[in-house]
Amino acid sequence: MKINKHYSEISESYLFSTVAKKQREFSAAHPDREIIRLSIGDVTLPLAGAVVKAMHDAVDEMSTKEGFHGYGPEQGYEFLKESIRNYYAGHGVELAADEIFISDGAKSDLGNILDLFDKDNTVLVTDPVYPVYVDTNVMAGRKILYAPATQENGFLPMPDPAVKADIIYLCSPNNPTGAVYTREQLAQWVEYAKAQNAIILFDAAYECFVTEEGLARSIFEVPGAKECAIEFCSFSKIAGFTGTRCGYTVVPMALEREGVSLNKMWLRRQTTKFNGVPYVVQKGAAAVFTPEGMAEIQENLNYYRRNAQVIAQTLEECGIWYCGGKNSPYLWLKCPGGMTSWEFFDWLLDKAGVVGTPGSGFGSCGEGYFRLTAFGDAEKTKVAAQRLKEALKTL
Ligand code: PLP
Repeated sequence: MKINKHYSEISESYLFSTVAKKQREFSAAHPDREIIRLSIGDVTLPLAGAVVKAMHDAVDEMSTKEGFHGYGPEQGYEFLKESIRNYYAGHGVELAADEIFISDGAKSDLGNILDLFDKDNTVLVTDPVYPVYVDTNVMAGRKILYAPATQENGFLPMPDPAVKADIIYLCSPNNPTGAVYTREQLAQWVEYAKAQNAIILFDAAYECFVTEEGLARSIFEVPGAKECAIEFCSFSKIAGFTGTRCGYTVVPMALEREGVSLNKMWLRRQTTKFNGVPYVVQKGAAAVFTPEGMAEIQENLNYYRRNAQVIAQTLEECGIWYCGGKNSPYLWLKCPGGMTSWEFFDWLLDKAGVVGTPGSGFGSCGEGYFRLTAFGDAEKTKVAAQRLKEALKTL
């Protein structure tokens, strides 16, 4: 019996545990000081009323003989796939219902999709990076290349034709940097992927924050992307489903490699290893796309957007370089005074009682940068921004 040795190659992620430990120690040493967390990637507003009602109704249905639902289709109920199809059509992307697969969240699918690919494929990720892309591939023993995201390229690295890659991860709006690709930039990635016969795994978990013209919400806004990309999306950020769990993956019919349909492979994978998302949850998810649901959800998104504006304005007033925060819930700032990411973490906690996330935790190119999030409470975010401003004056 042999275990998968690659698990020993995954670097321990101390990022969030160290953040929590430092916060605990600070609280213990300063019980009188209120700490404000602008570090969390989780949402804080409750589920929308339309979602809750749909879930209540679904529970009631389940309690009747006629309305009971047992095993559902592994790839999701038609009613939810149809709602998602219409949502995409609303921003100009035509999908077939069979191209949409409902899951319990983007994170699971981002890991599970790797079942479809050979171990010897080379993987390209951007640095800094959402760690799931790296760790899931290290577990499988794949080689990983890094495309540096820097202040010079606006934290939006573009393809280098000299680099050979088979699987390319793109996340836009990006976690952690908040940077968002334009349609033209994504078209260059599509062109590169096609030239390399590679597949792009496009993480659109934060697409709902995009409002600016010209920025892409889906890679399928780029002509030809259906021949080289798979898209992952989630109800977590758009509708506060981080604890409720629902997401979806789009595998186009046009996506084939070695004469095999990736859509058929994924269907086979899901029907073999996955038994579907609860009916009640899918009913709640479908309610997101009703007019009432959308109106409530836009209000929630606007709440987070206002938080982002508050932080962004403070950074501007203080002359701190940052990106994100405009079409994204994340703000990515350059640590002032030449501080490293962890030095700034300690300084900010000590001087302002504010907790953020050190950029170096997301990759070497994140060193010297820092992530703040707009998912917090509005009043507390205002207080945190004011404290940040006061603290920066002392530098
Ligand atoms: N992708 C990115 C970039 C994320 O930041 C997150 C969660 O924070 C996810 C995917 C996970 O989404 P889900 O809650 O649907 O698993």
